[in-house]
Amino acid sequence: MEFIVSDLEREPVDFDVELAPGSIDFGEQAEQDGPLATSGRAEVIHEHRGPKEIVPDIRLRGKFAGRIRVCCARCVEPVEAPLAADFDLIFRPAGADSDPPERSITAPETEIGYYQEDSLLLEDVLREQVLLSLPARTLCKPDCKGLCPRCGVNRNNQTCTCEEGPPDPRWEALAGLRSRIKS
Ligand SMILES: [Zn+2]
Ligand SMILES: [Zn+2]
Repeated sequence: MEFIVSDLEREPVDFDVELAPGSIDFGEQAEQDGPLATSGRAEVIHEHRGPKEIVPDIRLRGKFAGRIRVCCARCVEPVEAPLAADFDLIFRPAGADSDPPERSITAPETEIGYYQEDSLLLEDVLREQVLLSLPARTLCKPDCKGLCPRCGVNRNNQTCTCEEGPPDPRWEALAGLRSRIKS
């Protein structure tokens, strides 16, 4: 869904949509599980920087909810997690802040982004907001035993006879590979 500045100048746009999995490319880190519901409002806020300089900022407020699949940080098995967050963001035209001095006239709790040309894609905003909302490390369960650092078995459902010892860096490489080839 694309917000065009000239449309928003006429009137704010309220949105309430469900994005199917695949609408947003979350990269290798995460995979959307089921629809991602999002609703809110996009509007233009005119930032008066001087008698002649008026910057059309896009303010995007709303929320999203859905489910996401990420890899367990220890055993790399997929983990499903709920997604839900609110956002209240300001986007300035790209280049609007290129001239020093930097000004900050918006509330400090409001994040500033930039839009290219004359439009903003909801999908781009949500990709960033969803990834920001994810915890840095997700575990499949708090006591996940992870992969054996020597033979690579998932120690949650298999036991191996390896002795404890320094980890073999090859299994760390495999863990990274598994997370990429998981289906
Ligand atoms: Zn795990
Ligand atoms: Zn082992």
